[in-house]
Amino acid sequence: MTTLGNYINGERVASESGRTAPVFNPATGEKRLDVALSSADETRAAIANAQEAFKDWSATPPLSRARVMFKFKELLEQHADEIAELITLEHGKVFSDAKGELTRGLEVVEFACGIPHLQKGEHSLNVGRGVDSYSQMMPMGVVAGITPFNFPAMVPMWMFPVAIACGNTFVLKPSEKDPSVPLRLAELLTEAGLPNGVFNVVNGDKESVDVLLTDERIEAVSFVGSTPIAEYIYSTACAHGKRVQALGGAKNHMIVMPDADPEQVINSLMGAAYGSAGERCMAISVAVCVGDEVANHLVKDLQGAIAELKVGPGIGEAIESHMGPLVSRQHADKVIGYIDAGVEEGAELLVDGRNFVVTGNENGYFVGPTLFNHVKPGMRIYKEEIFGPVLAVVRVDSYEEALALINEHEYGNGTAIFTRDGDTARNFAANVQVGMIGINVPIPVPMAFHSFGGWKRSLFGPLHMHGPDGVRFYTRMKTITARWPTGLSAGPEFSMPTMK
Ligand code: NAD
Repeated sequence: MTTLGNYINGERVASESGRTAPVFNPATGEKRLDVALSSADETRAAIANAQEAFKDWSATPPLSRARVMFKFKELLEQHADEIAELITLEHGKVFSDAKGELTRGLEVVEFACGIPHLQKGEHSLNVGRGVDSYSQMMPMGVVAGITPFNFPAMVPMWMFPVAIACGNTFVLKPSEKDPSVPLRLAELLTEAGLPNGVFNVVNGDKESVDVLLTDERIEAVSFVGSTPIAEYIYSTACAHGKRVQALGGAKNHMIVMPDADPEQVINSLMGAAYGSAGERCMAISVAVCVGDEVANHLVKDLQGAIAELKVGPGIGEAIESHMGPLVSRQHADKVIGYIDAGVEEGAELLVDGRNFVVTGNENGYFVGPTLFNHVKPGMRIYKEEIFGPVLAVVRVDSYEEALALINEHEYGNGTAIFTRDGDTARNFAANVQVGMIGINVPIPVPMAFHSFGGWKRSLFGPLHMHGPDGVRFYTRMKTITARWPTGLSAGPEFSMPTMK
């Protein structure tokens, strides 16, 4: 059976750590291959390579760096089906969703193609007579990315296209659950003309991650994953003097106002709650209905729509499934444990996804779409991130109560409101304590030229990912003040220099 290794200095290399983890096809439960869990020394070797490559890459003109990105974009388009298939085979999400993920990553590559403009810096002529001042956005050096299982293409591409385009070199530690795609992306970068050593992939676990957080040659760390690990990454890497952005978990609420369009609500909610089997950090897992009448209608509509949902393998079916399996047996069991907890805590289970069997795929990690009614804020299924196809319907009496509920929650990644009323929508956008807000848009993931990030315990660090914040994160400002002989003053100045 194949064992995936690392990608160092422009080629795939086997790991000699002797430790591996199995990679499964979640739709069948069959093992596909093993992935190496690299040693600390192997991780250090990848950093050394990236450090060596930085010398020339950081001095490469931004236009040349952009041209590699243009070529990489072309290659991603040519290989889109192949990459999407790999995503489906290891993550489980349906093929069309995998292609959507790839497109959202590719858009960051398109953004990075504009790096000559984005990295221009600032220039002021005559800050004093004959004195000019300019700021340059310098690359940082070797930067690291640590990514989760749920977007094996898109989340790494939130990071490395911008980082590399800015002139940095990169070490990626992807999820050990679906490692094939990042290695394929690395190969395509080499084919696009990226010099060896600029982008490296180290497969591994905590042993590799800890090297990336502490090695003095790493300048910045980008992380996306669960909140406890995000917090660990942030505190450890900050303590070692690195710039850090660590994106964590989520519990995204959608308010349904009495004046919302019912058809728009049901279509949006079905996709946002059950798309990708709920394994999205921007999935909606709580519907907050303002008034019992709204809630009663919604749960009836949801039950009808859930009955129509096609759950099955993400690829190879005559009619494509809407929803695939969860990523692993352990994760499916965890989600089932939450459904048990919801029942024990007294929520009304309207649709039960436990014991869900897909004929022909009996060993797949399927959990059916699940719907809870009358969920209360004290319950675990309300407070904690489940990361599965489990939707909780909560009832409140007013918009103010709905807003307060969201603001009191520990997470603040995404949220949405469905209403026809502009005043309510505007008030919501102004007052909700969440980073990404949808108004009649269920999954408000910002486009590549804006930045992605949550608030509260969904993000540790000041800067969001990609867009303008991405360029800020991966560059360091240097400001030069220059005076030429024509601007010289008559004699020495002992007071603080000011504009005369
Ligand atoms: P995870 O936190 O388990 O793993 C993320 C990465 O950290 C992986 O590369 C993993 O190998 C590594 N890791 C795991 N345990 C570690 C440890 N003890 N020390 C060092 N490194 C460790 O997350 P996951 O299960 O892969 O992904 C799902 C989570 O990611 C969910 O909580 C989801 O909300 C979150 N997520 C957040 C966003 C966002 O934008 N906020 C986006 C996608 C996913």
